[in-house]
Amino acid sequence: MHVSGYLKVSVAVALATIVLKTSAWWLTDSVSLLSDALESLVNLAGAMFALAMVTIAAQPPDEDHPYGHHKAEYFSSGFEGVLILAAALGIIVAAVMRWLQPHALESLGLGLVLSVISSAMNGVLATAMLKKAREHQSMALEADARHLFTDVWTSVGVIIGLVGVQLTGWLWLDPLAAIGVAINIIREGWSLVRRSADGLMDSALEDVHRQAIHQVLQGFADRIRFDHLVTRRAGARRFADLHMHMPADWTLQRAATVREDVEQALMRAVPGLRASIQMLPMDVEAHFGDEKDLE
Ligand SMILES: [Zn+2]
Repeated sequence: MHVSGYLKVSVAVALATIVLKTSAWWLTDSVSLLSDALESLVNLAGAMFALAMVTIAAQPPDEDHPYGHHKAEYFSSGFEGVLILAAALGIIVAAVMRWLQPHALESLGLGLVLSVISSAMNGVLATAMLKKAREHQSMALEADARHLFTDVWTSVGVIIGLVGVQLTGWLWLDPLAAIGVAINIIREGWSLVRRSADGLMDSALEDVHRQAIHQVLQGFADRIRFDHLVTRRAGARRFADLHMHMPADWTLQRAATVREDVEQALMRAVPGLRASIQMLPMDVEAHFGDEKDLE
Protein backbone atom coordinates (compact mmCIF):
# COMPACT_ATOMS: atom_id res chain seq x y z
CA MET A 1 0.00 0.00 0.00
CA HIS A 2 1.23 3.50 -0.88
CA VAL A 3 1.67 6.44 1.49
CA SER A 4 -1.62 7.92 0.26
CA GLY A 5 -3.36 4.57 0.89
CA TYR A 6 -2.27 4.69 4.54
CA LEU A 7 -3.55 8.24 4.84
CA LYS A 8 -6.94 7.18 3.39
CA VAL A 9 -7.18 4.40 5.97
CA SER A 10 -6.26 6.93 8.63
CA VAL A 11 -9.15 9.20 7.52
CA ALA A 12 -11.53 6.23 7.87
CA VAL A 13 -10.15 5.29 11.30
CA ALA A 14 -10.42 8.92 12.45
CA LEU A 15 -14.11 8.92 11.46
CA ALA A 16 -14.70 5.66 13.38
CA THR A 17 -12.92 6.92 16.51
CA ILE A 18 -14.86 10.20 16.41
CA VAL A 19 -18.11 8.20 16.54
CA LEU A 20 -16.81 5.91 19.33
CA LYS A 21 -15.31 8.64 21.50
CA THR A 22 -18.18 11.08 21.06
CA SER A 23 -20.57 8.28 22.11
CA ALA A 24 -18.35 7.59 25.14
CA TRP A 25 -18.49 11.27 26.13
CA TRP A 26 -22.27 11.42 25.46
CA LEU A 27 -22.89 8.40 27.69
CA THR A 28 -20.68 9.48 30.59
CA ASP A 29 -20.57 13.32 30.43
CA SER A 30 -16.85 13.04 31.27
CA VAL A 31 -14.76 16.06 30.30
CA SER A 32 -11.65 13.90 29.78
CA LEU A 33 -13.53 11.75 27.26
CA LEU A 34 -14.69 14.96 25.59
CA SER A 35 -11.06 16.06 25.25
CA ASP A 36 -10.21 12.66 23.79
CA ALA A 37 -13.05 13.01 21.26
CA LEU A 38 -11.84 16.50 20.30
CA GLU A 39 -8.42 15.06 19.55
CA SER A 40 -9.98 12.60 17.10
CA LEU A 41 -11.57 15.52 15.28
CA VAL A 42 -8.10 17.03 14.95
CA ASN A 43 -6.90 13.63 13.64
CA LEU A 44 -9.50 13.72 10.91
CA ALA A 45 -8.62 17.23 9.74
CA GLY A 46 -4.91 16.44 9.96
CA ALA A 47 -5.18 13.20 7.98
CA MET A 48 -7.25 14.85 5.25
CA PHE A 49 -4.83 17.74 4.98
CA ALA A 50 -1.83 15.36 4.89
CA LEU A 51 -3.50 13.38 2.12
CA ALA A 52 -3.98 16.52 0.03
CA MET A 53 -0.36 17.57 0.60
CA VAL A 54 1.16 14.16 -0.22
CA THR A 55 -0.84 14.15 -3.45
CA ILE A 56 0.64 17.55 -4.31
CA ALA A 57 4.19 16.47 -3.35
CA ALA A 58 3.95 13.45 -5.69
CA GLN A 59 3.29 15.64 -8.74
CA PRO A 60 6.22 15.88 -11.16
CA PRO A 61 8.10 19.18 -11.53
CA ASP A 62 6.35 21.71 -13.77
CA GLU A 63 7.18 25.04 -15.33
CA ASP A 64 6.29 27.05 -12.24
CA HIS A 65 7.94 24.57 -9.81
CA PRO A 66 10.97 23.18 -11.67
CA TYR A 67 12.49 21.66 -8.48
CA GLY A 68 9.27 19.69 -7.76
CA HIS A 69 6.69 20.05 -4.99
CA HIS A 70 8.43 18.26 -2.11
CA LYS A 71 8.16 21.11 0.36
CA ALA A 72 4.35 20.79 0.36
CA GLU A 73 4.83 18.22 3.15
CA TYR A 74 6.05 20.92 5.51
CA PHE A 75 2.74 22.78 5.20
CA SER A 76 0.99 19.59 6.25
CA SER A 77 2.94 19.12 9.48
CA GLY A 78 2.77 22.85 10.27
CA PHE A 79 -0.99 22.96 9.75
CA GLU A 80 -1.50 19.87 11.87
CA GLY A 81 0.64 21.34 14.63
CA VAL A 82 -1.44 24.53 14.75
CA LEU A 83 -4.68 22.52 14.84
CA ILE A 84 -3.36 20.42 17.71
CA LEU A 85 -2.42 23.51 19.73
CA ALA A 86 -5.92 25.00 19.23
CA ALA A 87 -7.61 21.76 20.37
CA ALA A 88 -5.42 21.64 23.47
CA LEU A 89 -6.42 25.16 24.53
CA GLY A 90 -10.12 24.23 24.12
CA ILE A 91 -9.62 21.15 26.32
CA ILE A 92 -7.94 23.16 29.09
CA VAL A 93 -10.81 25.68 29.20
CA ALA A 94 -13.40 22.86 29.42
CA ALA A 95 -11.43 21.02 32.11
CA VAL A 96 -10.97 24.08 34.34
CA MET A 97 -14.70 24.83 34.13
CA ARG A 98 -15.52 21.26 35.13
CA TRP A 99 -13.01 21.36 37.99
CA LEU A 100 -14.81 24.41 39.38
CA GLN A 101 -18.28 22.88 38.87
CA PRO A 102 -17.91 19.08 39.23
CA HIS A 103 -20.80 16.73 38.54
CA ALA A 104 -21.31 12.97 38.59
CA LEU A 105 -20.40 10.69 35.68
CA GLU A 106 -22.77 8.06 34.25
CA SER A 107 -22.41 4.73 32.41
CA LEU A 108 -18.65 4.82 33.02
CA GLY A 109 -18.14 1.13 32.20
CA LEU A 110 -19.61 1.36 28.69
CA GLY A 111 -17.79 4.64 28.01
CA LEU A 112 -14.50 3.00 28.95
CA VAL A 113 -15.12 0.03 26.64
CA LEU A 114 -15.70 2.37 23.66
CA SER A 115 -12.56 4.31 24.51
CA VAL A 116 -10.42 1.16 24.72
CA ILE A 117 -11.72 -0.06 21.33
CA SER A 118 -10.90 3.22 19.57
CA SER A 119 -7.45 3.44 21.18
CA ALA A 120 -6.62 -0.09 20.02
CA MET A 121 -7.62 0.85 16.45
CA ASN A 122 -5.40 3.93 16.56
CA GLY A 123 -2.49 1.97 18.02
CA VAL A 124 -2.50 -0.67 15.27
CA LEU A 125 -2.80 1.96 12.54
CA ALA A 126 -0.08 4.22 13.98
CA THR A 127 2.42 1.34 14.20
CA ALA A 128 1.86 0.40 10.55
CA MET A 129 2.04 4.04 9.42
CA LEU A 130 5.26 4.81 11.27
CA LYS A 131 6.97 1.80 9.69
CA LYS A 132 5.85 2.94 6.22
CA ALA A 133 6.86 6.57 6.90
CA ARG A 134 10.43 5.52 7.80
CA GLU A 135 10.72 3.41 4.64
CA HIS A 136 9.55 6.28 2.43
CA GLN A 137 10.89 9.22 4.44
CA SER A 138 7.47 10.86 4.28
CA MET A 139 7.11 13.67 6.79
CA ALA A 140 3.35 13.94 6.27
CA LEU A 141 2.83 10.27 7.08
CA GLU A 142 5.24 10.38 10.01
CA ALA A 143 3.52 13.46 11.45
CA ASP A 144 0.17 11.68 11.20
CA ALA A 145 1.53 8.50 12.81
CA ARG A 146 3.20 10.35 15.69
CA HIS A 147 0.01 12.25 16.26
CA LEU A 148 -1.95 8.99 16.44
CA PHE A 149 0.51 7.61 19.00
CA THR A 150 -0.02 10.68 21.17
CA ASP A 151 -3.69 9.97 20.89
CA VAL A 152 -3.24 6.41 22.11
CA TRP A 153 -1.14 7.44 25.12
CA THR A 154 -3.46 10.26 26.13
CA SER A 155 -6.44 7.88 25.84
CA VAL A 156 -4.65 5.45 28.14
CA GLY A 157 -4.22 8.32 30.62
CA VAL A 158 -7.92 9.15 30.39
CA ILE A 159 -8.90 5.52 30.92
CA ILE A 160 -6.68 5.26 34.01
CA GLY A 161 -8.19 8.49 35.37
CA LEU A 162 -11.76 7.27 34.85
CA VAL A 163 -11.04 3.88 36.43
CA GLY A 164 -9.75 5.97 39.36
CA VAL A 165 -13.03 7.93 39.50
CA GLN A 166 -14.93 4.63 39.45
CA LEU A 167 -12.88 3.21 42.34
CA THR A 168 -12.57 6.31 44.55
CA GLY A 169 -15.45 8.59 43.58
CA TRP A 170 -12.96 11.50 43.24
CA LEU A 171 -14.58 13.53 40.44
CA TRP A 172 -11.58 15.87 40.08
CA LEU A 173 -9.58 13.02 38.53
CA ASP A 174 -11.64 13.55 35.36
CA PRO A 175 -10.64 17.20 34.65
CA LEU A 176 -7.11 16.39 35.85
CA ALA A 177 -6.81 13.67 33.19
CA ALA A 178 -8.24 16.08 30.61
CA ILE A 179 -5.57 18.69 31.42
CA GLY A 180 -2.88 15.99 31.24
CA VAL A 181 -4.16 15.11 27.77
CA ALA A 182 -4.01 18.77 26.76
CA ILE A 183 -0.42 19.28 27.97
CA ASN A 184 0.76 16.26 26.01
CA ILE A 185 -1.09 17.50 22.93
CA ILE A 186 0.61 20.91 23.24
CA ARG A 187 4.05 19.27 23.39
CA GLU A 188 3.37 17.26 20.21
CA GLY A 189 1.82 20.20 18.37
CA TRP A 190 4.75 22.45 19.19
CA SER A 191 7.31 19.96 17.90
CA LEU A 192 5.37 19.59 14.61
CA VAL A 193 5.25 23.36 14.09
CA ARG A 194 8.98 23.64 14.82
CA ARG A 195 9.85 20.82 12.45
CA SER A 196 7.97 22.31 9.56
CA ALA A 197 9.55 25.72 10.21
CA ASP A 198 12.99 24.04 10.09
CA GLY A 199 12.07 22.44 6.76
CA LEU A 200 10.91 25.70 5.23
CA MET A 201 14.22 27.28 6.29
CA ASP A 202 16.36 25.16 3.91
CA SER A 203 18.16 23.04 6.53
CA ALA A 204 21.45 21.38 5.58
CA LEU A 205 21.49 17.62 4.97
CA GLU A 206 21.66 15.31 7.97
CA ASP A 207 25.20 14.73 9.36
CA VAL A 208 25.32 11.13 8.14
CA HIS A 209 24.61 12.22 4.55
CA ARG A 210 27.09 15.10 4.67
CA GLN A 211 29.77 12.66 5.83
CA ALA A 212 28.88 10.33 2.97
CA ILE A 213 29.28 13.21 0.50
CA HIS A 214 32.70 14.14 1.91
CA GLN A 215 33.80 10.52 1.70
CA VAL A 216 32.80 10.27 -1.97
CA LEU A 217 34.58 13.55 -2.82
CA GLN A 218 37.75 12.43 -1.04
CA GLY A 219 37.88 9.39 -3.30
CA PHE A 220 38.22 11.69 -6.34
CA ALA A 221 40.47 14.31 -4.77
CA ASP A 222 43.93 13.33 -6.07
CA ARG A 223 44.13 15.70 -9.09
CA ILE A 224 40.96 17.72 -8.57
CA ARG A 225 39.75 19.95 -5.73
CA PHE A 226 36.19 20.30 -4.43
CA ASP A 227 34.97 23.38 -2.57
CA HIS A 228 31.94 25.61 -1.96
CA LEU A 229 29.81 22.60 -0.99
CA VAL A 230 26.32 23.58 0.22
CA THR A 231 23.44 21.17 0.91
CA ARG A 232 19.75 21.49 1.60
CA ARG A 233 16.64 19.36 2.15
CA ALA A 234 13.15 19.63 0.64
CA GLY A 235 10.91 16.83 1.96
CA ALA A 236 12.40 13.53 0.75
CA ARG A 237 14.46 15.35 -1.93
CA ARG A 238 18.07 16.38 -1.17
CA PHE A 239 20.24 18.92 -2.97
CA ALA A 240 24.02 19.53 -3.06
CA ASP A 241 25.82 22.33 -4.95
CA LEU A 242 29.59 22.29 -5.25
CA HIS A 243 32.61 23.36 -7.30
CA MET A 244 34.94 20.91 -9.01
CA HIS A 245 38.32 22.52 -9.77
CA MET A 246 40.65 20.65 -12.16
CA PRO A 247 43.88 21.18 -14.10
CA ALA A 248 43.39 23.89 -16.76
CA ASP A 249 44.87 21.71 -19.53
CA TRP A 250 42.19 18.98 -19.25
CA THR A 251 39.87 18.70 -22.26
CA LEU A 252 36.21 19.47 -21.67
CA GLN A 253 35.52 15.83 -22.61
CA ARG A 254 37.75 14.50 -19.84
CA ALA A 255 36.33 16.96 -17.31
CA ALA A 256 32.76 16.01 -18.20
CA THR A 257 33.52 12.29 -17.77
CA VAL A 258 34.96 12.82 -14.28
CA ARG A 259 32.07 15.11 -13.37
CA GLU A 260 29.58 12.40 -14.30
CA ASP A 261 31.47 9.79 -12.25
CA VAL A 262 31.36 12.10 -9.22
CA GLU A 263 27.65 12.75 -9.73
CA GLN A 264 26.80 9.04 -10.00
CA ALA A 265 28.87 8.21 -6.90
CA LEU A 266 27.12 10.98 -4.92
CA MET A 267 23.65 9.79 -5.94
CA ARG A 268 24.52 6.24 -4.93
CA ALA A 269 25.81 7.41 -1.53
CA VAL A 270 22.85 9.65 -0.60
CA PRO A 271 19.24 8.63 -1.37
CA GLY A 272 17.16 11.22 -3.22
CA LEU A 273 20.15 13.47 -3.92
CA ARG A 274 20.35 15.92 -6.85
CA ALA A 275 23.92 17.21 -7.18
CA SER A 276 24.81 20.21 -9.30
CA ILE A 277 28.53 20.46 -9.95
CA GLN A 278 30.19 23.54 -11.38
CA MET A 279 33.39 22.77 -13.35
CA LEU A 280 36.24 25.28 -12.98
CA PRO A 281 40.00 25.40 -13.66
CA MET A 282 42.21 24.92 -10.59
CA ASP A 283 43.18 28.62 -10.25
CA VAL A 284 39.81 30.24 -11.07
CA GLU A 285 37.13 30.80 -8.43
CA ALA A 286 33.45 31.61 -8.98
CA HIS A 287 31.65 33.83 -6.47
CA PHE A 288 28.06 34.83 -5.86
CA GLY A 289 29.22 37.75 -3.73
CA ASP A 290 28.28 35.96 -0.49
CA GLU A 291 30.21 37.16 2.53
CA LYS A 292 31.56 33.63 2.98
CA ASP A 293 33.04 33.70 -0.55
CA LEU A 294 34.96 36.88 0.12
CA GLU A 295 36.88 35.56 3.13
ZN1 LIG B 1 35.49 26.93 -5.90
